[in-house]
Parts: sequence; C-alpha cells; structure tokens
Amino acid sequence: MKYVSTRGRAPVLPFDDVLLAGLAVDGGLYVPEAWPTLDTARLRSLAGRSYVEVATEVVWPFVEGALDRDLLASLLADAYATFDVPEVCPLVDLGGGTWLLELFHGPTLAFKDVALQVVGRLFDHVLAERGERRTILVATSGDTGSAAIEACRGREALDIVVLFPAGRISEVQRRQMTTVPDANVHCLAVDGTFDDCQALVKACFADAALRATAGLSAMNSINWGRVVPQAAYYVTAALAVGAPDRPVAFAVPSGNFGNVLAGDVARRLGLPMERLVVGTNRNDTLARFLTTGVLERREVHATTSPAMDVSVPSNLERLLFELLGRDAAALDDLMARFSAAGRVEVPPAVLEAVRTGFDATRVDDDEVAETMAATLERSGVVVDPHTAVGLAAARRCRPDDGPVVALSTAAPSKFPDAVEAATGVRPPLPARLADLLHRPERATPVPAELAAVRAVLESPRP
Ligand SMILES: *Cc1c(COP(=O)(O)O)cnc(C)c1O
Repeated sequence: MKYVSTRGRAPVLPFDDVLLAGLAVDGGLYVPEAWPTLDTARLRSLAGRSYVEVATEVVWPFVEGALDRDLLASLLADAYATFDVPEVCPLVDLGGGTWLLELFHGPTLAFKDVALQVVGRLFDHVLAERGERRTILVATSGDTGSAAIEACRGREALDIVVLFPAGRISEVQRRQMTTVPDANVHCLAVDGTFDDCQALVKACFADAALRATAGLSAMNSINWGRVVPQAAYYVTAALAVGAPDRPVAFAVPSGNFGNVLAGDVARRLGLPMERLVVGTNRNDTLARFLTTGVLERREVHATTSPAMDVSVPSNLERLLFELLGRDAAALDDLMARFSAAGRVEVPPAVLEAVRTGFDATRVDDDEVAETMAATLERSGVVVDPHTAVGLAAARRCRPDDGPVVALSTAAPSKFPDAVEAATGVRPPLPARLADLLHRPERATPVPAELAAVRAVLESPRP
C-alpha cells in the first residue's frame, strides 16, 4: 500500500515512511492511494474470531509491503496483551438495542491505548530495522501524554519527552506520567499553560536543525498509524451485533475526528453501517460542520469531557479530501481560505454527501450529567463524561430500528469528580493502579522557553 498527501505536493510513500513522517512535507495528511475492501464473505468469516485475528485482517492491507503478516499478527497480539480483558474491546448490552463498546481496558484507561500500543511497537520495529533512534515529542493537556508514554516506555529505539502544564492537570493524570520508571521516559513540568506546551512542541518541530539532531517524531492524532488499528473495533462490534446481515449504527464522542474517521475507514472497507453519529461537547466545530457545511474556528471552552475540548478537528482534512473527490488542489485552496479567514463553507453537493454519511449533534455538560445519571438508573452502568456525550448523541439521532453501538472512550475512574457529581458514585481506580498515589515521581521543571526544552532535547540520553 502506498500513501498520498491530501495536498498533493508531497512524495508518495509506503506505510513505514508515513508512520515516521506524521504530517506530510506539504502540510497535508497521508491517506491510502486506494481503499482496500473486505467483501461480505470475508467479513462473515471473521465473526467469532479473536480480536487480534480480526485486527490483523483489518490492518494488513494498509501495511502490506512494509512488514510481513506474521510480524503484524505477533505485534498486535503483544500490544493487546497489555489490556485487562481478553476480549480487548468488550461489548456491554445497555438494553433497548443500545450497546456500549468499551475501548478503555488498556494501560491508561482511555481509548487512545487501542491505537498507541500498536503505534509504539510499529515505530520500534521500523526504527530497529533501519538502525535508527527517534525521540517522540508530545505536548499534553492530560490524557495523551500517559497513553504515549505507555506506548514508548522501555522501547529500544525510542525516547519520549512529554511537556505538561505544571499544576494544571489532575494528580492522577500527572502521576500516570511521572511515576513511569523507564529511563527512556522524560517528563517536563512546564511553568505555563497547555497552549504554551503546544507552542513549544511546534517550535521544536519547526526548527529543522533541532528536529534533525534530536531525531524528533510525533505520535499525534493525525498520524495514519493511529487511525488504522481503530478501524478493527468497528468490525468486531458490528459482527457481534449482526453485521454484515444487518446494518449497525455507531455513536462516537469526538474531538480531533480520529475515532470517527476510523469508523469511516471501516465503512469504506465494506462494513455495512447504518449511520455514523458524531457527538461533540460544547466545542462543536465538528457538529456544526457536519450539519451545515460551514467550518468555522471558535474559542475553546473547558468542559467535563476535556479530551474533546478541540477547536479545529485535525483529522477532518482526510474526510474533506474524500468529499472533494480526492481533488488535492481543491482541498489546498479550501484549507488556505480556512486558515486565512477562520471560516469556509463547502458546496451544497458536498454537504449532501456529508449528511448521507454522518449525523452529528452537540451535547452540553448538563445533558452529559443527566445522561450519566440516566444510564446508571436504567442500565446499572456507570459511564464517564466522554462516553455520555456519545450516548446522548445516539439517543437524539437514533435510527428507527437496528442496533446502535455507542463507543465508550474512557473508564469512569479516569474522571471521578464529574462522575461522582452526576451519579453520586465515585468509581475506584483498578487494582493495578491502586498505589499510584504512593509511587515515586520523576519530572524536570522547566520554564516555558524554547531554550530550556532545546537543552533537554540536545542533552545526551542515559
Ligand atoms: C481523545 C479522546 C476522545 C476524542 O477522540 P478523537 O479521535 O480525538 O475524536 C474522546 N474521548 C476520550 C476519552 C479521549 O481520550
């Protein structure tokens, strides 16, 4: 499989180069040159197979040519052995045709582990083959940092440097990063905000000399390697509730559009999908775009679902590329107008195509709290605020018949305050994290200055 940039001015690359590159050199995002397909007979043959077997089948056409199939299968088996349950992404019946797909049984209790546990191993394998090392540089407002650290810890070909805003993330979030003892993990407690952290990371990547000497790479949500493994759970869940013989709807709580995009990939592969329902919190750029065709940047507000507090969803560009008939010049023009004006509108025919494929709605914090309480009362299940956004969206956009699978993206114990306020129940951390608050921490305090981060990146690693 070869990959092309959505902006059409970057070299065509195989999967391993796309993985290491992240963003294309023309500022675009890499997408497959052509979509592979899994026909109905093949899909049917996957019903009842293990999660790793299905994931191997789904991921394989996207990595073919870059690694061999046995290696992919063992890498996926190794990645998902870190999960707390053998099903990896189990389904829970909420009643009334609604199912919860639990994506949070990985090391850091959020769905990003499903992709990052694979991506860390892919990076390590590709770099080892090339005899190279890289430093993964990440800015985090809380959750991405720990998922990236768990993906990279102890990997021979990788270091990871994570910048977090000191004093502005929860103690559990901080400790999930700072208590990891591996020597290749470096946490920087930045005296500043998350925006400062992000600006510092951007400045490091923009500095070509630093980028080269420190061997910087990104594992952020636009990395194609993160999208592909996520398509697998759409397939396992749909098969479990009756696909391919009946269409299934999915509801997805969304921020950067990576998770929904993976659902769209599963649909392009041939998975019959009734609807893809997108839920956003108050930061509703995505919901507004999918319902009106207007893409407009707005200020970000803090909500009870912080992992979805996103102003412009970075993966949307991949969908826009498809909607514009893969016309890279048209997309380039659209993105240039958007970056100049902060607002752009797609033609009516494109909006029509969007509305055929997606439903979208915005769910505010009060409805999130009501949904958490109602889900506990009706189904006896405690869900986190992100999951509640998806459930509320599913309820509002519910198709007339057929099952709905709502994606559960974080364990309730990851957001205990919001869950307790809504339901009266304070969910405990799993036993393996019970002593988290007593483990020794390790972080380097730095001012919010490029020179300080550069000094860390340029110093020799132990
Ligand atoms: C990252 C995240 C999301 C949003 O996923 P996107 O792929 O960015 O749309 C939703 N819920 C949780 C818990 C997350 O960590």
